[in-house]
Amino acid sequence: MINNLPSYATLAANIAHVRANIAQAAERVGRRPDTVTLVAVSKTKPVELIKLAYELGLRDFGENRVQDALPKIAEFRHAGLHPVAWHMIGHLQRNKANKVIGSFDSIQSVDTLQLAQALNHHAAELEQRIAILLQVNIAGEASKEGVTPEEALALAPQLVALPQLDVQGVMTVAPQVQDPETVRPVFRRLHELRERLREAAPQSAWQHLSMGMTDDYCVAIEEGATIVRVGRAIFGERERTQNAASL
Ligand SMILES: *Cc1c(COP(=O)(O)O)cnc(C)c1O
Repeated sequence: MINNLPSYATLAANIAHVRANIAQAAERVGRRPDTVTLVAVSKTKPVELIKLAYELGLRDFGENRVQDALPKIAEFRHAGLHPVAWHMIGHLQRNKANKVIGSFDSIQSVDTLQLAQALNHHAAELEQRIAILLQVNIAGEASKEGVTPEEALALAPQLVALPQLDVQGVMTVAPQVQDPETVRPVFRRLHELRERLREAAPQSAWQHLSMGMTDDYCVAIEEGATIVRVGRAIFGERERTQNAASL
């Protein structure tokens, strides 16, 4: 089946809609809308569409597979499109840590000390620093990546000690539910954990709470999200399996 990509007008309307929702959710809890970064999750989508989103003002993009993302990142560089920030939001294998340094700007899916050490090592080789978030499995779902809150607290001092890593906070993927209110406690718990991480490892600010996706980003913002990762509400539905040809 041919992927139904949004037209420029639809994409513009989608982005305006998401931005308005972000502003309203922030204002409901007395926050400034510009304290929320919108990461447009462009996984499975062609680079031409991502360029249109850039043209429409988006500057942060989320990808979940290194091999899919690298050509898109290269194309943006080739076209001179900057500033732009690429966020790795999918599971990252340690043996691919070398590939993300110098291409991605932020790794939101750090979930082991070994991966953090590998990123630190390769960043040092390139004399770079890399922003990372620690992925936490708040709801304890067996199917989800991420450390437990207890593991996060134990890991925090070791992460902030790695000199090439800029430990910026935590990320979670909430369970998929019908009613976003159901996952409000998940977001609240990540926010609470962030406060404890600040005490456990005060060398970092832990400023970012990356939580909230198409179905629940407004609730996440009400609970303090500083980064929301929104795919379908911007780019439309994805093919069911990412391995299938997505064009
Ligand atoms: C795909 C994905 C998203 C975006 O999901 P939508 O429901 O399309 O908004 C956000 N975060 C992660 C980790 C993802 O894999």
